[in-house]
Amino acid sequence: MGALPVFRWRLAPDGYATRRQLRARGLRPGGQEVAAQLERPRRRRPPLVAYLYRVDLAKPVRPMTPAKWAALSKANAARRRCPACGRDAGYVIPPSLGACASCAYPEDQCAAA
Ligand SMILES: [Zn+2]
Repeated sequence: MGALPVFRWRLAPDGYATRRQLRARGLRPGGQEVAAQLERPRRRRPPLVAYLYRVDLAKPVRPMTPAKWAALSKANAARRRCPACGRDAGYVIPPSLGACASCAYPEDQCAAA
């Protein structure tokens, strides 16, 4: 750790970012070692330290794989399916109703028809 370059707070050179800054850009350190550290001196206390990573070595936040998308849309489809009539309601069935609107309120359906 002694070999790490130390920068003053707010004087980090371009190309370095904290984990949080990477995240804001949709990046993650991606297994790289801490490249540098920032120190913010504080009165009568140890300095505040932030670790910096190299932006050029950062990797994009794990992208959604096709399998993940499929699982997600399957889960969403299941949540839209009315357990009473088995139809895709076109919206997520509210847990409070437990069925699509036409099953939950058959009277309303008749009044409307
Ligand atoms: Zn229904």
